[in-house]
Amino acid sequence: MVIMMIYKSIWLQGIKTKTLPSLKEDITTDVLIIGGGITGISTAYYLSKSNMNVTLVDSNQIGLGVTSKTTGKLTYLQELLYNKIQHIYGFNTAKKYLESQKYAIEIVKNIIINNDIKCDFESNSSYVFTDQNNNIHKLKDLKAFLNNAYNDCKVITHLPIKYPCKYAIKVDDTFVFHPLKYVLALKEICLKRGINIYEKTKIIDLEKKDNYYLAKTNNNVIKAKKVVLACHYPFFITPSFFPFKTYLEKSYVASGIVDKNKKFNAISCNDSTHSIRYYSSKKDYLIYAGLSKSLGYNMNNEKNFHDLFWHIQSNLTTDIKYSWFNYDVITPDGLPLIGYYNKDQNLLIGTGYNTWGMTNGSLAGKILSDLILDKKNKYQELFDPNRQINISKIINMIGSNVDTGLTYITSKLKKNYSFYPDNIKIVYRHGKRCGIYTDHLNKEHVVNTLCPHMKCNLIFNNIDKTWDCPCHGSRFDIDGKVIKGPSVYNISVK
Ligand SMILES: Cc1cc2nc3c(=O)[nH]c(=O)nc-3n(C[C@H](O)[C@H](O)[C@H](O)COP(=O)(O)OP(=O)(O)OC[C@H]3O[C@@H](n4cnc5c(N)ncnc54)[C@H](O)[C@@H]3O)c2cc1C
Repeated sequence: MVIMMIYKSIWLQGIKTKTLPSLKEDITTDVLIIGGGITGISTAYYLSKSNMNVTLVDSNQIGLGVTSKTTGKLTYLQELLYNKIQHIYGFNTAKKYLESQKYAIEIVKNIIINNDIKCDFESNSSYVFTDQNNNIHKLKDLKAFLNNAYNDCKVITHLPIKYPCKYAIKVDDTFVFHPLKYVLALKEICLKRGINIYEKTKIIDLEKKDNYYLAKTNNNVIKAKKVVLACHYPFFITPSFFPFKTYLEKSYVASGIVDKNKKFNAISCNDSTHSIRYYSSKKDYLIYAGLSKSLGYNMNNEKNFHDLFWHIQSNLTTDIKYSWFNYDVITPDGLPLIGYYNKDQNLLIGTGYNTWGMTNGSLAGKILSDLILDKKNKYQELFDPNRQINISKIINMIGSNVDTGLTYITSKLKKNYSFYPDNIKIVYRHGKRCGIYTDHLNKEHVVNTLCPHMKCNLIFNNIDKTWDCPCHGSRFDIDGKVIKGPSVYNISVK
C-alpha cells in the first residue's frame, strides 16, 4: 500500500485561525478559565451572558487540543457505558446519565441554531455493534436498559458498511458535527461578548490565597476569585492525586476518501474499540478510530498506524489521507468529573469524559457556569468530582490504574531502550540521563529524558519527532519545549 498522507487531524483541513495576543501584564478577573477546548469555551460562552469579568487563557490556540482530534459524534449511544454505570450505581443513575447526554445534545443543537453556526451539524444514526458471539449478551443488556429507560432502539445484524457485525443496536436521534468549526464559532461569540481571551499563555502554577487565586505564567500573574481547570488533564495542580484516580487512553484515527457518505456512525463493544463515522466537505470521507488502550501500552505509533490502516483500507476508494492520535481521560466509574474540586476554594474542574467529551464538555460548560453563578444544576451531584466510589465495583479499573503505575515503574527500571530508533542516542551528562536526536542535517538536539511531571522516562515518537511520556501523556519537541501537559516545564538541556 502506498500511503500519501499527512499526520494531522482532518478537522484542521482548510481551517485558518489568527492567534490572539498572549498575556503581557498582570491582571485581575472574576473568573479565570484555564484551557480553551470544548469545556473551557463552553463555560466561557455561558458566562458571557453574565456581568462577570471572565478571562480565558490557552497555552496554545483555542480548540487545537484534544477537541480538534475527536471523531465529532454527538451521540448518547456510548459503547457499553450505561452497563458499567448501572453495575456500579444502579438503574436510576445510569438513566440520569442517559438523560444528561440527551440534554447535552439538545444544548449544543440550540447553540448552533440560535447563533446560526456553520459547523456541518447533521442528523446521523448511531450504532453500537459487535462481531463476537461472547459480547452479544452485553448488547442485549444495553437494549434492556434503553427500553427500561423509555428509549427507542432497534436491533439489527449488519451495518450499512462492509464490516464484520453479528449484533447491533441502532438509535436515530443523534448527530455529528465539525468539532473545530463549532469551537471556533464559540470563540468569536465570546470575543464579541467581551470575554478576555489570551492564547499562547500557559499557566504554570496556581497559588491559593485567602479568598482568591494567583495563576502564574512565566512572566505574569492573574488574580482571580474563581478558577476553572478546563485543561483536559488538569493535574499539574494535584500531580500525585488525580493520575491514580483516572487514566489516559490513547486511540489512533485515520481517514480517507469514500464513494458515498452513508450518514451513520458506529462503535464496537469489543475489547479493542473500533469507531466509524463519515464526513463530507469537497469529498466524502470515512473516519476510523481504533486501537484504544491505556497510554503506557500504546507507544509504538508506527506499528499501531500500520495495523489501523489495515482495518480501514478495504473500505476506501483511495489511500489514507489523514491520520493522527488522541488521548482522553478515563474515570473508574464511567462518570465525568465536573464541578467544585473543593467548594470552599472556588476551584472547579471539568474532565474525565471517557471519550465522550463533545456531549460532556458541552454539559460541563453549562454545569460549571451554573455553579459559578450560584444556580442549581440538575446534574451537579451526578458528576461531583468528590463523589464516593465503591471500590469493590470498579476492580477492573483499579487494574488499569495499576497499569499506569506499572508503566511508571517499568519506565523507571527498563528505561525503554527498545523503543528508541537509530537516530536516538541515550547518554549521561553531569549525572543526568539525556536523549540525543540527530536530525537530517546531522544536527544534534539534546534533552533531559525525565518527564518533569512525575519523573517517568520519556519515549521518542519517531513519527512526530517528539518525546512522549508513557505515564501521563506529556509531550515535548526535539529541543525539549513542552507541547502538551500535564507537564508545564520544558526538558531542554542548556
Ligand atoms: C480518538 C478519540 C475520538 C473521540 N471522539 C469523540 C466523539 O466522537 N464524540 C465525543 O463526544 N467525544 C469524543 N472524544 C472525546 C473528546 O475528544 C474529549 O473528551 C474532549 O475533546 C476533551 O475536551 P477538553 O476541553 O477537556 O480538552 P482540550 O480540547 O484538550 O482542551 C484543553 C485545552 O487546555 C489547554 N491547556 C492545557 N494545559 C494548559 C495550561 N497549563 N495553561 C493553559 N492552557 C492549557 C490546551 O492547549 C487545550 O487547548 C474522542 C476522544 C478520542 C481520544
